[in-house]
Amino acid sequence: MANDKTQSEKLTVEGRLVNLYKLQSILSEIDRIRTIRGELPAEVKDMEDNLEGLRTRVANLTADIEDFNKRLVAEKEHIEESKSKIARYKEQLDNVRNNREFDLLTKEVEFESLEIQLAEKHINEYGRIIEQKKSDIQQAEADINDREHILNEKRSELEEIVSETRQDEERLRAEALKIEETLVDDPRTLAAFKRIRKNARNGLGVVCIERNACGGCFNRIPPQKQLEIKMHKKIIVCEYCGRILVDPDLEGIKPAEA
Ligand SMILES: [Zn+2]
Repeated sequence: MANDKTQSEKLTVEGRLVNLYKLQSILSEIDRIRTIRGELPAEVKDMEDNLEGLRTRVANLTADIEDFNKRLVAEKEHIEESKSKIARYKEQLDNVRNNREFDLLTKEVEFESLEIQLAEKHINEYGRIIEQKKSDIQQAEADINDREHILNEKRSELEEIVSETRQDEERLRAEALKIEETLVDDPRTLAAFKRIRKNARNGLGVVCIERNACGGCFNRIPPQKQLEIKMHKKIIVCEYCGRILVDPDLEGIKPAEA
């Protein structure tokens, strides 16, 4: 940092503008870092929710399979009952005394045979459903496996970024503080800068003129005012948004950030 013109000696307006601009750049960088740090935990949280959803899905599918297995057992029992009924009716058929009894027993046998067919149909159907659910579970478990890996990577990435950016932030804060110290003899400007920065959505309190307009609110700056800004003899603020305006050609000002 070229802070040669700072320290004890009083800054010129020009030096003050340059330092305000530098302060703004550093604070913007801190804002950017904090945004990154804020977004990553949200991403991790989303992934955790997603995993939780998949685990719930596996649990539900498992419960469904249990349920269908119970139904399978019930249908098999039903078949056994029907079979033993049929066996009993056939025994009775051997000893029928009249046509009426014969018809009645024959109908019963038919009925139980149909019951068996229906139960077998259900057994096939449930079997297919169970197979489908088992393959859904496999798919979900594979997804869980994949996502757990990604989540673990994200978590360590997050830890790394948090510790890295904390260090960056501390370094930047120290730099910002040093520059701020050079501006404390003009508390009004400094306070105005901080107030605008706090209220502005993009956190900018100092902006360059861009295409004859304020780089913060994009309102046109009258030519007379532009001339004054280019002279760097006074601190001039945008009459629309109150941001401090600087000339991008001023030595020490980088061309507008992206
Ligand atoms: Zn403005």
